Amino acid sequence: MTQTGLVWSEHYLEHDPGPHYPERPDRLSAIKPRLERAGIFASTTPVEATIADLALIERVHSPAYIERFRTRCERGLPYVDTVECPLCPATFETARRAVGGVIAACDAVMAGRCESVFCAVRPPGHHAEVDKAYGFCYFNNIAIAAEYLRHEHGLRRMAILDWDVHHGNGTQHHFEADPDIFFVSIHQHPRTLFPGTGFEDERGIDAGLNATLNCPMMPGCIDEHYHHVFEEQILPRIAEFRPEFLLISAGFDAHVDDPLAHIDLSTDAFEWMTVQSVRLMRELGHPRIVSVLEGGYNLDALADCVLAHLQGLRLP
Ligand SMILES: [Zn+2]
Repeated sequence: MTQTGLVWSEHYLEHDPGPHYPERPDRLSAIKPRLERAGIFASTTPVEATIADLALIERVHSPAYIERFRTRCERGLPYVDTVECPLCPATFETARRAVGGVIAACDAVMAGRCESVFCAVRPPGHHAEVDKAYGFCYFNNIAIAAEYLRHEHGLRRMAILDWDVHHGNGTQHHFEADPDIFFVSIHQHPRTLFPGTGFEDERGIDAGLNATLNCPMMPGCIDEHYHHVFEEQILPRIAEFRPEFLLISAGFDAHVDDPLAHIDLSTDAFEWMTVQSVRLMRELGHPRIVSVLEGGYNLDALADCVLAHLQGLRLP
């Protein structure tokens, strides 16, 4: 069995937006017993999450935004930038720790301790923009990870695969003029779902033209439709790009039982997408994957999908 790491910390429960918010601590509380029963904690390498230095976060987010987020949190204000980004006293530190978890995962893979690491972090990150919190997201964990790999580990070419059912607008915008980061997102069609970006003709800008691939899917799509798009577009395009590292924005809200969207994937689809990704990176000679939790709001489905994803990462 290939060594897979897991970022897990009870501290990630501390961002508590209060009742009625789908992005809630219960998401991780639901995942834990499922992973325990499957022996995942015992059979993966624990990767310790620390609180990330603000200097790493400033590679993606403006100092003005970071300061606004910090002070609003300290003052006990109810949200930052949008009511979909609620605050509790621990939100700022928990968001920094989510970044720290993803950074630690990158270090574990680059040191050769693990082939892949799954980061069960919250709050999620892919909607967060340079200068604003958006859609449950405060710091763009995966974008900060890619910048970290570039600056601290000297990697040049990376791919970010975002299969959360919502388009990863923040990640796309940060890298859209960058020819060295290939951003690919498969998501429910933006005419039918938040955040309303991620149309097929968004292919990157300037030097980054064609380093962005958006695959919008109509409501009601099932496993076969995703398989087809992976086989015809996503996997060949990643292979052609030859990334040295794959980052996955792993949202599980395209599951048929998810309450926030209208894509009808089975749990198996998430294992399938994971296995395809692992095989591809091995074939390319760079078996290095860090996967980061984004969405997923039906607690049972989320727990099942995370387990399926981890089983895929542990492909022999
Ligand atoms: Zn989502």
